[in-house]
Amino acid sequence: MKVIPNNKVIYKFKNQMNYVETILPGEKVKFETNDCWFQQITSEEQVMEEINYDILNPATGPIYVENAEPGDLLQVKIIDINVKSRGSALVVPNEGVLGDQVTKPIVRIIDIEDGHAIFHGIKLPIEPMIGVIGVAPAKADGEWATDSPWKHGGNMDTKDIKVGSTLYFPVHQKGALLALGDCHAIMGDGEICFTGLEVPAEVILEVNLIKNKAIIWPLVETKEYTMVIASGNNLERAVYEATNQAVDHLKNSLNMDWEDAYILASLSVDLKISQVVDPKMTVRAAIPKYIVPTETIINSL
Ligand code: CA
Ligand code: ZN
Repeated sequence: MKVIPNNKVIYKFKNQMNYVETILPGEKVKFETNDCWFQQITSEEQVMEEINYDILNPATGPIYVENAEPGDLLQVKIIDINVKSRGSALVVPNEGVLGDQVTKPIVRIIDIEDGHAIFHGIKLPIEPMIGVIGVAPAKADGEWATDSPWKHGGNMDTKDIKVGSTLYFPVHQKGALLALGDCHAIMGDGEICFTGLEVPAEVILEVNLIKNKAIIWPLVETKEYTMVIASGNNLERAVYEATNQAVDHLKNSLNMDWEDAYILASLSVDLKISQVVDPKMTVRAAIPKYIVPTETIINSL
């Protein structure tokens, strides 16, 4: 299996990027990822002024997937996320939902033992996830710093991007150009205080290609749902985008009138908050698989 080392990183998702490795569709590949601080936070006495803010949110990659062409879908199965045994979480003035109440930065270094993060003696079962994962954006969409989510993926900070899930990205450049980083050992929906349990990790993915199928926003398939992951300047905008796509997916895959698909969405689709702390906010619209399997949605594109 090819390994992409964690010193090969990008800070911007762009339509044109130099790739560091090439793989074939169907191949498994391992990415070594850095935490969002590039491992600069090592103790609770850390002075935040010492941090180099120019190297935050590194994404390992990108890799070139043979035969991927604009207009295809990149399918990314998350096989494994192996997190390091120690991570960090912190609060910073003016960051997070309640940032106005934070008077000084506080760092917490959190150990992970036997699948649990230990915080103030409380054992939290970890559920590792990938915070930043994406492909080359469409040329018309411009460049996206790795700290922002958008149609190419990026900093979606969505806890369903975890082992067992499958992502689908729109391909906008030859080779798709996949990069990722910013794993969290555990995070609640919303990412309330502006960090998850930030950890370096080793991520194993299986990357496949679905030819000539286009989507606007990324999808994540879990055991029970197909979720549209959409972002916007505020939650309302993100909710509109995610709902709009979910209704379209129902309409096309079930051959329904738009109005009936809209009603069906109201009866069955769950809107979930992914994160409210990044430069754009992210939500997901979860379509139950018992209504329509992910494969049928993809085939109807
Ligand atoms: Ca993040
Ligand atoms: Zn993070």
